[in-house]
Amino acid sequence: MQINREYIENLLDEAKTAGDAFISRTLDKAEKSEPLSHREIAALLVTGNPEHLKQIFAIAGAIKRRIYGSRIVMFAPLYVSNYCVNRCAYCSFNCGHDFGRRKLTMDELREEVTILEKMGHKRLALEAGEHDSECPIDYILECIENIYEMKFENGAIRRINVNIAATTTENYRKLKDAGIGTYILFQETYHEPTYERVHLAGPKKDFAWHLDAFDRAQEAGIDDVGGGVLFGLADPYFEVLGLMLHNEHLEKKYGAGFHTISVPRLCPASGMNIADFPNLVDDITFAKIVAIIRIAVPFTGMILSTREDHGMRKKLLQLGISQISAGSRTTVGGYSQSAQNETHPQFLVNDDRSALSIITELMDDGYIPSFCTACYRNGRTGDRFMSLAKSGQIGNVCLPNALMTLSEYSMDYGDAAFQEKAAAIIGRETAHIADEHIRQKTIENVEKIRTNKGRDFFV
Ligand code: SAM
Ligand code: SF4
Repeated sequence: MQINREYIENLLDEAKTAGDAFISRTLDKAEKSEPLSHREIAALLVTGNPEHLKQIFAIAGAIKRRIYGSRIVMFAPLYVSNYCVNRCAYCSFNCGHDFGRRKLTMDELREEVTILEKMGHKRLALEAGEHDSECPIDYILECIENIYEMKFENGAIRRINVNIAATTTENYRKLKDAGIGTYILFQETYHEPTYERVHLAGPKKDFAWHLDAFDRAQEAGIDDVGGGVLFGLADPYFEVLGLMLHNEHLEKKYGAGFHTISVPRLCPASGMNIADFPNLVDDITFAKIVAIIRIAVPFTGMILSTREDHGMRKKLLQLGISQISAGSRTTVGGYSQSAQNETHPQFLVNDDRSALSIITELMDDGYIPSFCTACYRNGRTGDRFMSLAKSGQIGNVCLPNALMTLSEYSMDYGDAAFQEKAAAIIGRETAHIADEHIRQKTIENVEKIRTNKGRDFFV
């Protein structure tokens, strides 16, 4: 695919002259969940009118609540290798940096996964730098196989999403056969001159190779792909339109756009100076971007990591985020190290609370932390997931799954007070399951989990 830079730049230029009447009509359409044109998305991005911003936030919040209810899917990253042949100016794993590089041995991998499982995680995002000899695809496959093979008293890691460098169709086929969940790859920036500037050397420098990665993944049968840009590299409004064009390309060609969109924002990291990046995104603009993505692609999950701090995460959950990481470490072997002794994280996290405290706060704020991994296990991927989402049936599927997995989490990892809190949420939210049969089944399964008569239920 190609990103037509001039087209996006013209959209943004024209948007500067969009009148209030045009923006009001766009907001009306957004409110009615009508699809927005590129021109309309550009106008929402560019408007600086505080009244418009207020409405954008309100509409995004309403869409979020209508489609995702109170559910928030939980996950954690697992860094397996920091060997890298690329020279990305923003990343501490950049091959120009001199530090003791390593990858996890299979014993170390099992130790990390054991800790993550003790935190209650069922869904991981496997992360690695790019290095064909130190970290070949066979090593990644071995990690995946070992993680899926591990069985714990409380179950297992049930879904491994993979965030590794753009690779060949043949390697994507191997990842597909290994049973990965989503293949995640951030475009970093859709603005080609910026892309060239920040990728100083290595295979990742090839913009087209990176941009076409999801086409190769789709051709290899991976139909859940997760996009994203690293906000802070180029004009953030340009990036949002780039994401939209990429999403439409995938939708047209493969019947489903991005399964998820991640919104990482540049953080300080060793070997780079954040002040060298002229397009850092302030908090208000960032919140506006999250809200506009939510409005533009209502059915695409949105992922937020611990790059954002506690307050920002709380705010963005209201505007569109549907998945968050918790208890994260961005170091190879980071979960086995104490926070003070962490050696060479990829970047510095801004929310270092424990998974349990994040999950508890979510419940206090009225959310349902969900450990669901059912769609991928039931083969509801790609366009099958999208048609489920668009049919409005998500409430009869994702909600019971969220409640049953929260119930399991509370019995496995919570104390009496936590269990009481979870039971109150489950009692309250079960009533919102529209389908009578599924509602009854959920109540029965929650009771089985509570009395230790069964587990790992999903619709
Ligand atoms: N090495 C692979 C790649 O580059 O595609 C896999 C992903 S890398 C482990 C995860 C992501 O971290 C990168 O895609 C990049 O967007 C992000 N990242 C790198 N440096 C960062 C920084 N200083 N702040 C925030 N995110 C950063
Ligand atoms: Fe390597 Fe990925 Fe970091 Fe670039 S972002 S230096 S490819 S780990």
